[in-house]
Order: sequence, then structure tokens, then C-alpha cells
Amino acid sequence: MAKFKRVLLKLSGESLMGEKGYGIDENRLGEYAAQIKEIADMGVQLGIVIGGGNIFRGLSGSKKGFDRVKGDQMGMLATTINALALCSALTAAGAKCKVLTAIRMEPIGEFYTKDKALELLNAGYITIFAAGTGCPYFTTDTGSSLRGIEIEADAMFKGTRVDGIYTADPEKDPSATKFDDISYDEILVRNLKVMDLSATVMCRDNGLPIVVFNMDKPGNLKRVIAGENIGTYVHP
Ligand code: UDP
Repeated sequence: MAKFKRVLLKLSGESLMGEKGYGIDENRLGEYAAQIKEIADMGVQLGIVIGGGNIFRGLSGSKKGFDRVKGDQMGMLATTINALALCSALTAAGAKCKVLTAIRMEPIGEFYTKDKALELLNAGYITIFAAGTGCPYFTTDTGSSLRGIEIEADAMFKGTRVDGIYTADPEKDPSATKFDDISYDEILVRNLKVMDLSATVMCRDNGLPIVVFNMDKPGNLKRVIAGENIGTYVHP
């Protein structure tokens, strides 16, 4: 049984690379699509925001001499490429899926409005929100807290490649320990790099709980949706 009725799932672009150093790994995409379809079949309404770090990030572009705003626009287009890839993998897996974009680019996807998003979610479509917030200087973390709040999701699920929020980056510091739960303010005070501070503040100020979990272990998405505490639960 699902404990959540409507969730916003945030996936990083980087994790779509799988074993590759760049771009999209079809096997990883297929694994994600299978996990997502499984919970959509349980009747959970799913909005998805996907990053673009496997293709382009504005900040790294500006370090190489790109104009920051243009670089961020390239990043938003990168998230749109990933959104189309995920949508087509979901459709191939037999799920109903649509892409809404934060920047007008029909026919790639319909322009995002809250009303359109709710119409699709209520009709059983997995709805992917592409191009983040549509604005430069933001990230897909802020894009997902924004969309999660707008669609009145029960929680935001941040799928990562580690098991939850740790005292330090577990990929760099082997002595790091995991939190089973943590408050928004403790994330801010400890300056934990789980997601952008602005995204954490938005979730805190608007009461959107966050669950951070390892999306790369097949079956985990279903377990967190069922309410199992296998990741880290972020609360007031
Ligand atoms: N981006 C942006 N505004 C947004 C969302 C994303 O400008 O609202 C750009 C930004 O350049 C960012 C890139 O898109 O670096 C890719 O998104 P992100 O870094 O969040 O992807 P992830 O790290 O999750 O793969």
C-alpha cells in the first residue's frame, strides 16, 4: 500500500549517466522507468523533475567562459533532453506520461501551468516538468521544490546514488554517518550539501517534507512510497 498519494520525484541528471562518463545510459534509463511505472501502477500520482548535469551545467560552463545566463539556458535544455528520454522510456514500458516545459517550446512539450499539471496528474499521467524553473541562477533542486509545492505534493522524493543524508559526503569521507531523519534547520545549520539551501528553505517555509533515498537500488522507490524509512526523512 502506498503511504503517499501525490509525490514529486527529483532525479539528478548525473545519475542517468549510469556507467558512462557523459549523456544517457539506456540501461539506467530503463531501470528508472521500470521503478517509476511500478509505483504509478499502484495509483500514486507522480510529478518528476529531472536534472541536466549529465549533459551541461551553467556554472561549470561559466568557469569555461560561457555567459552564465546562456549557460543556464543550455542547462535547462539539457534537463529537457533528459525529460524526453525518460518520457519515451516510460511510454515504452507501457506507462502514461507527458512532458510540461517551464519555457515555451511546443511541440516538445506543453507549457507548464499548475492547472495543466493537476489535470494530467488526476488523469493518471506521470508528468515530467522540464527546464527547471525556466529561470537562470536556479537549479533543478529549486525547480522540484517549487513544482512540489505548486502541485501540493505530499512529499518530495529526492532520488540519489547514496542512501540518504550523511554528516559528510560518504563518497569522500568513509567516517560519515547517515541520518534516519533530520530537521530542515539542522541541514541549514550544518550546511549539508544534500540539495541547494534555497530549495531546502522553500520546502521548510511551505511545509513540504523531503525524503532522500538511493534510487539506484531497484525496488527502493517502491519501498519509500510504501513508507519504509530506508533513506532520510526531512521534517520541521
Ligand atoms: N538550470 C537553470 N534553472 C533552473 C534549473 C536548471 O538555470 O531552474 C540549469 C543550470 O545551469 C543547471 C542545469 O540547468 O546547472 C542543470 O540542472 P542541475 O544542475 O540542477 O542538474 P542535476 O545536478 O540535478 O543533474
